[in-house]
Amino acid sequence: SGRWAKAEAILRELEEKCGTPTAKLRQVADAMTVEMHAGLASEGGSKLKMLISYVDNLPTGDEKGLFYALDLGGTNFRVMRVQLGGKDGIIKQESEEVSIPPHLMVGSSHELFDFIAAALAKFVDTEGEDFHLPPGRQRELGFTFSFPVRQLSLASGTLIKWTKGFLIEDAVGEDVVGELTKAMERLGLDMRVAALVNDTVGTLAGGRYNNPDVIAAVILGTGTNAAYVERAHAIPKWQGLLPKSGEMVINMEWGNFRSSHLPLTEFDQTLDVESLNPGEQIFEKIISGMYLGEIVRRVLCRMAEEASFFGDTIPPKLKIPFILRTPDMSAMHHDTSPDLKVVGSKLKDILEVPNSSLKMRKIIVEICDIVATRGARLSAAGILGILKKLGRDAVKEGEKQRSVIALDGGLFEHYTKFRNCMESTLKELLGDVAENIIVEHSNDGSGIGAALLAASHSQYL
Ligand code: ADP
Ligand code: MG
Repeated sequence: SGRWAKAEAILRELEEKCGTPTAKLRQVADAMTVEMHAGLASEGGSKLKMLISYVDNLPTGDEKGLFYALDLGGTNFRVMRVQLGGKDGIIKQESEEVSIPPHLMVGSSHELFDFIAAALAKFVDTEGEDFHLPPGRQRELGFTFSFPVRQLSLASGTLIKWTKGFLIEDAVGEDVVGELTKAMERLGLDMRVAALVNDTVGTLAGGRYNNPDVIAAVILGTGTNAAYVERAHAIPKWQGLLPKSGEMVINMEWGNFRSSHLPLTEFDQTLDVESLNPGEQIFEKIISGMYLGEIVRRVLCRMAEEASFFGDTIPPKLKIPFILRTPDMSAMHHDTSPDLKVVGSKLKDILEVPNSSLKMRKIIVEICDIVATRGARLSAAGILGILKKLGRDAVKEGEKQRSVIALDGGLFEHYTKFRNCMESTLKELLGDVAENIIVEHSNDGSGIGAALLAASHSQYL
């Protein structure tokens, strides 16, 4: 019938607009490399902020002692303590996850940091005898804060802007370490922030601790971002002394990348316009976990309106932004049952569509596939951009340098089809070099990485 023909037409149009042929991915990678150069050349020189992390030494394995870490980046935050044993490695670690009440994500700075400090204080109270703080010492913390920060030193930095559904205006421009420290003081928690790091930088540090070939880290979670090790002399905007190591970790903030080569659709445009941060984080909005399910919802809305995809009425629930979460999209996408019963039950539970035909379910799986494939392939192009910047995208005569990229984030970890597509696309782009480039899952690397950086910047060294 005409209804199916119209739905089919919308689907084919989506597929075409989301297309990422290899040639296009190479253009995206080249544009990423160009923007990296521009962002390193001058402050504000590019949409890529290429933030200087002040991390000029990555963990060596000699780090020792008890350190805490706090990871704030999405809907959850994590507190962690780790007993580092130098050459004996990690002796013991414990962590706890706390979800952030949604009203605190759009409230005041004071309230958010009080909540965080309180959870941290509660966690410190449960420290057992396996952890050892030498008498008279202050506890020290690595603070992983996964929003763009202009660092003033390794342990201070001002918030540039919020992303990923956070919007707390009075915190913008403030030193987030100062905010956390004041909240800890209000509670009487005696702890010093020894390092402030982005989650990408933490993941890079955690990854390097386990593998000396790690040169970059990428997060695919609620948002997306990357960090890598740059040669200090290749950072023209760096005014300070050159670090002894000759290296500096750069937090790219690649979520804010945008290029005319990106395949964008009407759905991306309206998602962006109606978001908390219109015009910003365009790369993030087509790749990351916060948005993929929402893109699918928007496609389904159009099908419902223009092709009566769900029948004569539009399911009211379908009108609610963000009601279709990426984990639900992923579950539908991975449905292998012959009658796609997972898709059927998601439609019923989330959108209150009681009956769905197999034909409808198949179309929905196709939408998921198109949207996830575009995100996965573009993230591979981003990684190629980094490798190109470092000259590691080609085999050098007589050299066999291995490059390891540490990957983390819930999207990478749990969305198998996304992850497989990202990895196979990277191979496709790299050709012969693929054997020297390794993608490694760095589980919880960012928390441990922050603790390691706190250890190497302890006041007691
Ligand atoms: P954050 O990025 O907030 O620090 P995570 O790295 O844990 O936290 O990523 C969480 C995100 O990962 C979620 O917002 C969701 O988008 C995505 N995610 C989690 N589980 C799944 C899943 N099963 N399938 C697809 N995406 C998932
Ligand atoms: Mg995270």
